[in-house]
Amino acid sequence: MNTGAPLLSVDNVSMHFGGLKAVDGVSLTVAAQQVVGLIGPNGSGKSTLINVISRIYDPTGGTVKLDDKEIAGVAVHEIAALGITRTFQNVRLFPTMTVRDNLRMGTTSATRAGFVTSGLALPAARREEKAVDQQVEDVAVLLGLEAQLDRVAGDLPYGLQKLTELGRALISNPKLILLDEPVAGMNSSEKQALVAALRRVRAARPVAFLLVEHDMAFVMSLTEYLYVLNFGKLIAQGSPEHVRADPGVIEAYLGV
Ligand code: ADP
Ligand code: MG
Repeated sequence: MNTGAPLLSVDNVSMHFGGLKAVDGVSLTVAAQQVVGLIGPNGSGKSTLINVISRIYDPTGGTVKLDDKEIAGVAVHEIAALGITRTFQNVRLFPTMTVRDNLRMGTTSATRAGFVTSGLALPAARREEKAVDQQVEDVAVLLGLEAQLDRVAGDLPYGLQKLTELGRALISNPKLILLDEPVAGMNSSEKQALVAALRRVRAARPVAFLLVEHDMAFVMSLTEYLYVLNFGKLIAQGSPEHVRADPGVIEAYLGV
């Protein structure tokens, strides 16, 4: 599976805010359908790197390639159509809309949420809407959200809101999903439900994940390969077992 160029290739990327080197010369790769972990203490630059990869920030230096193509010129609203979607550290749903409509917002089709039909001939628009409905149903079934589709997103328990956000990221059939601390703030049964959902997604869809966490136990239960950031720099990489035993990683996590 992992032949040829990596799906995602981050090469010597830096993101400086004034004098602060939030990300400082980081290189990493994610292969197609691989789950890669990105861990590090709070403030180590994980979200900033996700924001660079998802084009929220223009990096101060370095390159990001998807399928060997530089994404520097891609606008943030075009990134999903290119194949990269994400979730946020704090849930960002449309709280007054239903789960169904939140999922529709993730589609890159012309009939997104049923709003933009005017540019298409009516039969084509109807076909598109049917296809979107089917995508919504499929993702809801995969994530166990079928019973929630007509509920207002803001009324759902936190774990189901996070699953809805994952669904929105999944619905456009991306090649890569960036997950920024998906289990932060979850209780243990919500965490277990998310792990189970991610396992089902992996089995059903050809998608890769870059999974950002500072909860090492969680990330190690899902990934085969980890990168570790500290103060914006990569300090270790490798299998969970290798990384866990690394003295620099232990020091960074214990803060000694
Ligand atoms: P993490 O996600 O690993 O907790 P962040 O990427 O959020 O870390 O932050 C890394 C560092 O960059 C922190 O010191 C943070 O305060 C700083 N930082 C993040 N975003 C900005 C910004 N937009 N402007 C200035 N500093 C920022
Ligand atoms: Mg963060």
